[in-house]
Amino acid sequence: MDNDKSFYDINQIVLLCRQCGAPLDAPANATAIKCGYCGVTTIIEHERKEVKPEQAAHSAEVTEEKRLADLKTQDGRVIMPPLPILGMMKAGGLNPEKLSEAESLWKTMRQVLEAGPDEKAEKELFFLVLIIGQYYRIAHDYLRSRAYYETALQLVRNPDHLHDLYCLMSQTAANEGDLESAEKWLAYANPRPTGIHQDSAYRYSKALIATRKGDWSKVLEYLGADIKDIPISNSYDDLCGVFRANAHEKSGKLEQAKDQLEKAALQNIHSLENVARVMEVDKTLDLCSIVKHEVLEKARSKRRKKRWIRLAIAVLVIGAIAAFCIACK
Ligand SMILES: [Zn+2]
Repeated sequence: MDNDKSFYDINQIVLLCRQCGAPLDAPANATAIKCGYCGVTTIIEHERKEVKPEQAAHSAEVTEEKRLADLKTQDGRVIMPPLPILGMMKAGGLNPEKLSEAESLWKTMRQVLEAGPDEKAEKELFFLVLIIGQYYRIAHDYLRSRAYYETALQLVRNPDHLHDLYCLMSQTAANEGDLESAEKWLAYANPRPTGIHQDSAYRYSKALIATRKGDWSKVLEYLGADIKDIPISNSYDDLCGVFRANAHEKSGKLEQAKDQLEKAALQNIHSLENVARVMEVDKTLDLCSIVKHEVLEKARSKRRKKRWIRLAIAVLVIGAIAAFCIACK
């Protein structure tokens, strides 16, 4: 890919060679790519498919109010990867020791799906691409990471999977600063999905682009001004919590920023660490830089206090049970 183009440029197509697995790029309107390493030609089977709202569980027929109410009932739902993929994971991502196993399973699933639709294979390939793509992004091998995502876009048919992949392409393009591609990738996704995970992925993608543009009112429109306004899926809670608080901070509403960041940091036992990590990932975004130290310190102290109270209650309960047992003797 040319040096002046971003790794997620929408005008290019990047696929994994079907023979040797090298990432290959060509203009988006190409019909085939010849591998410069092994000489094998990979045919580009499909044009990019737009995820129409009516494809995803008739969401066009649902009013916005009803859609949000339905999303609320799904809040807290956990998405579990298929068992073979779960065995390759560690700390929410790919276990680096399982990389070759994961890539070999991916190759097998690709061959299965190239032969025809297969729901089980598609689900495995989808979760594999999430963890392998993330692995290469962390390793700064952006071209290979994109090639995994975009090859998956050629193979999957499930509208939710397509939607998630387009959101991911948009987020990675936005993180690279290529906002034009980020917006165009997101235009292929469904703006009104009926699943909470798909809705949160879309909202976060929109909020990320708005953050990069400094459009704080748009960020709050997508994520809600308060943590309770819009249901957000577990996997996006921490990210959205930070971006919401940051939009308040950058609009000059420091008290609201502190309140929202603290609520985000105390949502569950992992939130504090995750929220702190989100603010450190991309320093150029300057996320919550004014309020973060004060809020994190306060949240840590609150959590310590909570632990002590829990311990004190446990001691009292054990003491009461022991006293009861002695009294009954
Ligand atoms: Zn090749």
